[in-house]
Parts: sequence; structure tokens; C-alpha cells
Amino acid sequence: MVSAAAPQVVPENLVIVGSGPAGYTAAIYAARANLSPVLITGFQAGGIAGGQLMTTTDVENFPGFPDGILGPDLMDRMRAQAVRWGTRLIEADADAIDLGQRPYRLTVEGQVIETQALILATGASANRLGLPHEQDFWSRGISACAICDGATPQFRNAELAVVGGGDSACEEAVYLTKYGSQVHLIVRRDVLRASKAMADRVLANPAISVHWNQDLVDVAGGDWLETVQLRHTSTGQEETLAVKGLFYAIGHTPNTGLVAGQIELDGQGYLQVRSGRPETSVDGVFAAGDVADTEWRQGITAAGSGCQAALAAERWLTHHDLAITVSHDPVDPAPAGEPVPVPTSDEANYDPSALWQKGGYALRKLYHDCDKPLLVVYSSPSCGPCHVLKPQLKRVLQDFGGAAQGVEIDIETDQAIAEQAGVTGTPTVQLFFRKELKQQFKGVKQRSEFKAAIEALL
Ligand SMILES: Cc1cc2nc3c(=O)[nH]c(=O)nc-3n(C[C@H](O)[C@H](O)[C@H](O)COP(=O)(O)OP(=O)(O)OC[C@H]3O[C@@H](n4cnc5c(N)ncnc54)[C@H](O)[C@@H]3O)c2cc1C
Repeated sequence: MVSAAAPQVVPENLVIVGSGPAGYTAAIYAARANLSPVLITGFQAGGIAGGQLMTTTDVENFPGFPDGILGPDLMDRMRAQAVRWGTRLIEADADAIDLGQRPYRLTVEGQVIETQALILATGASANRLGLPHEQDFWSRGISACAICDGATPQFRNAELAVVGGGDSACEEAVYLTKYGSQVHLIVRRDVLRASKAMADRVLANPAISVHWNQDLVDVAGGDWLETVQLRHTSTGQEETLAVKGLFYAIGHTPNTGLVAGQIELDGQGYLQVRSGRPETSVDGVFAAGDVADTEWRQGITAAGSGCQAALAAERWLTHHDLAITVSHDPVDPAPAGEPVPVPTSDEANYDPSALWQKGGYALRKLYHDCDKPLLVVYSSPSCGPCHVLKPQLKRVLQDFGGAAQGVEIDIETDQAIAEQAGVTGTPTVQLFFRKELKQQFKGVKQRSEFKAAIEALL
């Protein structure tokens, strides 16, 4: 019996995994080199699409933004630049990577993608303690990056705390004495793991008080962090410290799980590269950003290494005669333009059939008049996960072709509505049908979950 030949899969030139500053910068360079790269943005594995800067507010040290820029806005701009030059985005996690043979194979949402070259830009996640109220004060007093956030006005002349006992914790404690009135270093043991020189600097600094043998058990406050709760590791005695800032320096976990055992990693699990070079131990696989950086871990250093990785990948593809380039017509793509904010609906512009609207007026009207499933998303301007979720929700609604509608509530401008709805964090999505709350979703969820919930009502 003659069976039909399986369709030939043409491997991609270059796949980039990760959409932080490293991944997007690599994509911009590769797309401009006509390599038509595919970028797998990530969704929930190893952080969120857009990377770590989606989880912070003002970024004041990325060149080109003299007045600073919100982390999520910076990442939106990088994304727009990558797309403008022809990067193809896949908004999902890479679930598996097989480096056993070339072309390399990645599995994404059940589909296999083959690629000649690969850039790993999956970042490193700052470890968290998982305190009961940690999430409530994340970016409202708690930070994982003293260099990034130390100069925040709320921290000036305030008492601050650093948790950790290694070199990073000591370095951060010393750094923060520039801003805080007093820095409390919370250490779980009775010694510092840091180098002797670093430990000596801390112990000799009158602006730093070390709290030995203390576990950090919880945090509390109002709109902003006010206190941290400590418990002595042997006596169990509890103590409350009044601080306005809490900095985690308890290490990072590089997102290398998918390639572990297939590529050289260093002792801490970071991709092993030669200093300043993007090549990994596997031919045609390049590293960019924090996933290979135990030391600098900044947006700009990640972006710089993304550039290096893309240039190296381009040279490698050319050297092996593997690149199938595409040409752009016209050569210069249309401008990406500035993002257009959704206008807040009022009596004049409210549209009862619009797929997506914004504000309390639209919510009240739709709640009473709409007989379709209604998705209400509560977000705030500095919430990175909200930036990730809103386009996903819009896509879900588009797929339903008008059979369901959506409305967005900014909890900063519509505080009373958010309070009435019992919203305690963003993003929160509530699904209503005929004035009845059917389901509530907290945090970023897959499109399929929203689809299934709406489908069940139709
Ligand atoms: C709270 C905070 C504030 C900060 N503030 C600043 C600042 O002000 N200035 C500054 O320069 N730096 C700052 N940093 C550091 C900066 O964010 C990082 O150095 C930078 O984001 C690293 O970029 P990256 O591209 O290497 O990785 P990341 O930004 O971590 O991005 C990693 C990407 O990989 C994706 N990913 C992971 N696993 C997978 C997978 N399996 N499949 C697909 N995708 C995957 C993630 O979704 C993410 O998109 C801050 C960090 C934090 C945590």
C-alpha cells in the first residue's frame, strides 16, 4: 500500500524563547536581518510574557527615557518594535525543547516547531518567600531588586529591611543605606554566607542592624508596606519591625529546566557561556539575558546580550548556509505608532454592541442591559500581568464574534466599583450573565479557560 508522504516541515531559521528585554532585542535584530524569527513569548512558565520588567512600576535606568517609563510600557514598546520588523509571536509557553539533533525541536501547545538556530532568553526568576501577605505588598514596599527600586521616593529616609545572608543581601544592604535612614538585615542563621570582606563592610556600617537567627514570617500595612513580622529560629519569639521597604535577596532560579541535561549549565543552573559570549555548549544554540547571567541582571544588560545572541545566530546560520531570508516590501515597515488607549465610555460614546469598553458607565449599562456573557476585567495601569491578560481577553471575545462582551475597570479611577465588587488584587476577571456573577478568575489564565466558561453560558 502506498501511503501519502507526510508534508515536509520547513524548519524555522531562528526561534527565540522568552519575551523579556533579551528576547525582544534578539528578535528586533534577527527580524531586521530578514531572518523572520519566531518568538515564543511565554505565558506562565518562568514569569510572564514581557518578563520581569512587567512586574515593576517605574524603570528609571533604561537609556532613552529621561523621565523614566513604566516597566509594562517599556516592554509593550519592545514588543511593538519586534513585531514591526516581522517577528512572529507565539503567545504560549515552550513546553519541551529537544536539542538531541538538528534541526532542534520545540513543543508549544502540542505543536512541534523545528528550528536551525535557537536563542534561549528565558530569564531567571527572583526567589520569593511565599509569605501569607507577600502578594498584597509586591511593588508596594516589597521588591526583588534594590538597585532598581532603591531610589523610589517612599524609601527615602525610611527604615528598610533586606532579607538574606549572602553577598547580594550584603551588597543591597550597603547600597540601600544611601536612601534609607536605617537598614535592617534579616538573616536566618548566626553567620553571614557572604565573603569576609563584604560581611565586614556590613558589620562595620552603623546604618545597618543585623537581626540574627530570624525567620521572616509575614508582612502587613495599608496601601503600602508598614511592618514585617520576625520569628526567632530557636526561641520562636516574635518581633515586629516597622519598615517601608523590604528587599528580597534570597537568590534567583534560572529558567533552564527545559534544557537541563542537554546543554552545559553552571553549578547554579545558569546556561554556561564564555564570559561576554552568547554561544552555549550546543552548536547553534545561543543564550541571552539573565538566563546566563549570575552577576549583572539588568534590563539593559539583558537587551545588550540579546543583540549579541541575534548577531551570533545570524553569523552561524550564514556560515552553515542555513538561513532562508525573507525580503521586506516595502523595505521600511509602517510605523508601529503610539499605543491608542481605550477611551472611557460615557453617555456620548457608549456603544451597546461594542466588544470591549472601559469604565463605570459602560459597566453599569452593560450589567443591566446586556443579555450576553459579560467579562469584567479589573486592572491597574502599573499591573504588568493586566497588560498581558487584556489582549488575550479581547482575542477570546473576537473569537465569539459578538456573542459575548467585555468591559475594563481601572481600579485606581473606579475605586468604589472595585471595592463593591470585592476586588483585592489585579488582574481580576468576573464573568456575569444576566446580572449574575458566574465565575471569578484571579491572575493570568489561559484563553481556553475563559472560552470554556463563556461557552458554558451560550
Ligand atoms: C521587581 C523587579 C524590578 C526590576 N527593575 C529593574 C529596573 O528598574 N531596571 C533594570 O534595568 N532592571 C530591572 N530589573 C531586572 C530586569 O527585569 C531583568 O534583568 C531583565 O528583565 C532580564 O531580562 P531577560 O530578558 O533576560 O529575562 P526576563 O525579563 O526574566 O524574561 C524572561 C522571559 O522568558 C519567558 N519564559 C520563561 N520560561 C519560558 C518558557 N518555558 N517558554 C516560553 N517563555 C518562557 C518569560 O515568560 C519571560 O518572557 C528588575 C527586576 C525585578 C524582578
